[in-house]
Amino acid sequence: MSGERYQTVLLFGAPGSGKGTQGKILAHIPGFFHLSCGDVFRSLDINSAEGRLIYEYSSTGRLVPDETTIRVWKRHLDALTVLSHYKPYEDLLILDGIPRNVHQAELVKEHIDVLKIVHLVCRDEEAMVHRIRRRAIRDNRADDASEDVIRKRFRVYEDETRPVLECYSKELISEVDAIAPPAEVLRQVLNCVVPVQNAHFLVKQRPQVNMSSSL
Ligand code: ADP
Repeated sequence: MSGERYQTVLLFGAPGSGKGTQGKILAHIPGFFHLSCGDVFRSLDINSAEGRLIYEYSSTGRLVPDETTIRVWKRHLDALTVLSHYKPYEDLLILDGIPRNVHQAELVKEHIDVLKIVHLVCRDEEAMVHRIRRRAIRDNRADDASEDVIRKRFRVYEDETRPVLECYSKELISEVDAIAPPAEVLRQVLNCVVPVQNAHFLVKQRPQVNMSSSL
């Protein structure tokens, strides 16, 4: 897809709002491809200079510098495309965790065409802290382990990430109640993304194989 932009939905919301949970569910449905920027970072070799630098930022709740973020994320996406894990003409790209500030929103413009933003809204910070604490035990994540780091990520979200919504037209943004049970959140997320997929990815009929004539 050189020169063209990937057709994309952004999963947007505060830490613990369930972007990753919903993205992982969508990833099981043919025609959707989910990529979490945080997962890309966690997949890096911690002994490499890049892996160490990123860990230094993420384990303290700070945003990784933009140039590094975009380079690593784009390299990963390109590799997935080369390997045909992600097929841009068949799959709607579901991004979570990027762009995470206004500058990143500018930088990703040349790579992605944002067709919809699903904003997982939760105004109850304590409920999200509780979810993150449970995730810390389940996933053994360094940035989930300390309450100070969790609170710092919420501040970064409010100061740097929430303003990203201003970069996009209001019509693109749909709000979903993030505090509802996961199946209900999924229903609302599907209501947002299925029409986008239908509008942009026509299901191509495979040629019919006539079994009786080949016998
Ligand atoms: P959460 O949404 O729960 O904060 P993520 O897995 O999305 O978790 O991100 C974990 C950490 O990785 C972030 O706190 C941040 O340090 C780093 N990170 C992830 N995505 C980005 C990004 N787009 N830009 C800068 N840093 C990022």
